[in-house]
Amino acid sequence: MKTKKRKLSLKWRFFAAFCAVSAVILLLLWLCQTVFLNSFYRTVKVYETKKAAQSVADRLYDEDIEYTIASLSTRYDINIRVVDADFQTVYNGADKQTRSLFNNIPESELTYFYEKASQNGGSYTEYFDGFRLEGSNDTASKADKKTRPEMTSFLAVHLVSDNAGGYYTVLVNTTITPVDSVITTLRVILIVVTAVTVLGSLLAAFLLSARLSKPIKRIGEKAKVLATGDYSVEFEPTGVTELDELSDSLNYAKTELGKMDNLQKELVANISHDLRTPLTLISGYAEVMRDLPGEVTDENLQVIIDESTRMSDLVNDVLDISKLSAGVQQVNKESVDLVQCIQSIIPRYNKLIEQKNYKLLFESAAAAAPVLADRNMLSRVIYNLINNAVTYTGEDKTVRITLTEQGGDYTVHIIDSGEGIPEDKLPYIWDRYYKVDKNHRRAQAGSGLGLSIVKQILDAHDAAYGVTSTPGKGSDFWFSLKKDNT
Ligand code: ADP
Repeated sequence: MKTKKRKLSLKWRFFAAFCAVSAVILLLLWLCQTVFLNSFYRTVKVYETKKAAQSVADRLYDEDIEYTIASLSTRYDINIRVVDADFQTVYNGADKQTRSLFNNIPESELTYFYEKASQNGGSYTEYFDGFRLEGSNDTASKADKKTRPEMTSFLAVHLVSDNAGGYYTVLVNTTITPVDSVITTLRVILIVVTAVTVLGSLLAAFLLSARLSKPIKRIGEKAKVLATGDYSVEFEPTGVTELDELSDSLNYAKTELGKMDNLQKELVANISHDLRTPLTLISGYAEVMRDLPGEVTDENLQVIIDESTRMSDLVNDVLDISKLSAGVQQVNKESVDLVQCIQSIIPRYNKLIEQKNYKLLFESAAAAAPVLADRNMLSRVIYNLINNAVTYTGEDKTVRITLTEQGGDYTVHIIDSGEGIPEDKLPYIWDRYYKVDKNHRRAQAGSGLGLSIVKQILDAHDAAYGVTSTPGKGSDFWFSLKKDNT
């Protein structure tokens, strides 16, 4: 069963995330500072005492032992006492006023500790409730330790040989004061910190989400405007990298959509214009021929035929480009002779050549130029390029077609002597529906699709192609195809 994902605004998502992180941190603090503080404190104290006892025992014969004992006592707040084999105090690590009860235990009673240590291999530790002996030592069970009163005294004893057959007894003692009042203070602090953290999280969530959701909303609103076809909207920078990238992409999409939309509008205008003109001519001529039987002449009929051809060419262009863009047109590659292909297209211009003195000059560096290509598509490329050259060529009405061979490539150039194409317009001429001259003239009747068809076909053949154009002198459209060696 599909469960519906719950929708949460950015604000509440941030809040939840901040709260979760704060909760983990606070829980750790609660545990460390309140629940475990007593045992941490106790462990540290015991460790320090044991370490101090060990270092006094190790350095007992050092010259500065008195200084060591004094500094250890102050640093760790511990009592250190060293007695000789006769239980006479040799060192007492606290001054008279601050000496604890421990420092004042009569020397006669110290035998107990000495005996315990010597039974235990030279050292031992013991906990006391106050100074009353309880008999539990470090090896006492956990249960014992739990029931031990909180106010505890801890003693570490070490025996050090006096080189005369006897032993010095090093006694180090500390009082482990319960830290309950500290815990209570920390609890209060933590409650305040928790409250501040929750409020802080809420505030941070609000601020952060406002900072993010505002630009997101703004972008969303503008995207809606864009969807209505208004391409003047501008997606402004927001200051957030990811959102800026989104804005940039939307600006790019907007520009492209705008371009496409304009071109499409132009196409519709151009196609309607181009269709209406031949239609008007056809119906006009037909009506004249119907009403005046004397007007049924070959010339008039030719006008009707020419105009119908123009119309069907236009419709074919539109169909071709939509098929090519949709990718439904398959490329059936076979070995095609470029020379033959060009030669078969030139006769289509015979009428222009004969009646209007056009010159189509073809020079080929090879007798045959086999390439691997889709025959129909290749004819279409050559036809479109020659057609443009014928349409745009200059006063001399000349179009030169050359075929050269270099390396493993055949290159076809179609050169005219027309107005050329301004350099800034060159990158756009391959775009669909693009026309350099926006004033649609019938003399240059084209759908603006010719070069786009050329581009799509040549791209599908992985062919190199391009144009060099000198305004006022003419253009040279070229493409190269690999030699078919099979
Ligand atoms: P059209 O069908 O309008 O000729 P094309 O896609 O074939 O469309 O060409 C796009 C535009 O490129 C043309 O409108 C024209 O302005 C320019 N163009 C193409 N070929 C030539 C050329 N040989 N000389 C000058 N301009 C050209």
